[in-house]
Amino acid sequence: RPEGLPYPEDAPASQALFDRAQAVVPGGVNSPVRAFRAVGGTPRFMAHGAGPWLTDADGRRYVDLVCSWGPLIHGHAHPEVIAAIQAAAARGTSFGTPTVGEVDLAEEIVRRTPVDEVRLVNSGTEATMSAIRLARGFTGRTKIVKFAGCYHGHVDALLAAAGSGVATLGLPDSPGVTGAAASETIVLPYNDVAAVEEAFRQDGAEIAAVITEAAAGNMGVIAPRDGFNQRLAEIAHAAGALLIVDEVMTGFRVSAGGWAGLDPVDADLFTFGKVMGGGLPAAAFGGRRAIMSRLAPAGPVYQAGTLSGNPLACAAGLASLRLADDAVYKRLDELSATVGALAADALTTAGVPHRLAYAGNMFSIFFTATEVVDYESAKTQDAGAFKAFFHEMLARGVYLPPSAFESWFVSTAIDEEALEQIASALPHAARAAA
Ligand code: PLP
Repeated sequence: RPEGLPYPEDAPASQALFDRAQAVVPGGVNSPVRAFRAVGGTPRFMAHGAGPWLTDADGRRYVDLVCSWGPLIHGHAHPEVIAAIQAAAARGTSFGTPTVGEVDLAEEIVRRTPVDEVRLVNSGTEATMSAIRLARGFTGRTKIVKFAGCYHGHVDALLAAAGSGVATLGLPDSPGVTGAAASETIVLPYNDVAAVEEAFRQDGAEIAAVITEAAAGNMGVIAPRDGFNQRLAEIAHAAGALLIVDEVMTGFRVSAGGWAGLDPVDADLFTFGKVMGGGLPAAAFGGRRAIMSRLAPAGPVYQAGTLSGNPLACAAGLASLRLADDAVYKRLDELSATVGALAADALTTAGVPHRLAYAGNMFSIFFTATEVVDYESAKTQDAGAFKAFFHEMLARGVYLPPSAFESWFVSTAIDEEALEQIASALPHAARAAA
């Protein structure tokens, strides 16, 4: 057990690396949330991971409740996953030809999920971007419906999230996303069936697809209301549009078959990522054969990738999925229930208003007294309370997502020692947030 908890506020080795990084990388990071902008302070540069633990450049050890934003359901450096990567690496890193590993991985995905066929890509962003192109190519229509607060990667058309309770035509959320791209996106409030019906009444003949997170995890965790996803399928199909269910975060994490394993839905296309790559870059989109067969080379909708189906990523993903049996999902459920309850108890004792929300074993704590059902209610959070809570947890060796709008992720590697570290940190963090 490391000496010296709580850790000092400054983290000199991480800060030195951050200084170097800021000179050569925009903002010092390769993905914005890593920069700690929402919580302030020095982003921790991690040196290595083992099981439930992350160790940073200053040699400090943290229980990891981010798990690389979801992929690592078995924890860091699981020996079977590492062995699979090493064996694959020894055979060569990339061939630019079909390989056995990608067939094995595709078969495993098809076996576990509702899709008939699947195309492998390198990131969740690529998966949703390609699914949208395919939906447009298949239907011959242009408009896409998405929900405010749902994140589907940094796809131009999906960076629009300008909904404010009524159906709104999307405005670009980022400079560089053209008005034209955003104007094809209709942004609606999450969990609001009436808004979807209204959008289809107005624009139904032009809508190619509705895209939704299987369960929202990017505005904090908000489960779809009972029947919401299936209702989306019915509304879309009645108008000749498709439903794309984004399981990049939920897929192979909340059950063997992802969210669809808990809440079956008649979707046309699904996207996957994170867990299916076992910590290496792999993602996928798949769906009904009649739609997938429109993809090149079988059909005219173009999609390709130099490193798609990369042998190392396929080996890591396959090893990770093969380890993920019923016992693993049971353990993830138990651990997420335990950690969530510990956090909620600590906050209740300290008198901090909060809402604990689950979607399967994904969960988050909203620092608000308001019931959270969509992006607007999620934004009622007390950012200052979260910031204080986050830094106290960090100082006491627990690495939480550095934003109040993210899911917490558990891994089966969390053991008694890690749980004890979480349990002993929480009362301090809750008092800091009060
Ligand atoms: N879709 C969902 C639901 C996600 O949570 C994410 C990433 O967090 C993405 C898509 C984008 O995936 P990637 O970051 O691999 O591009």
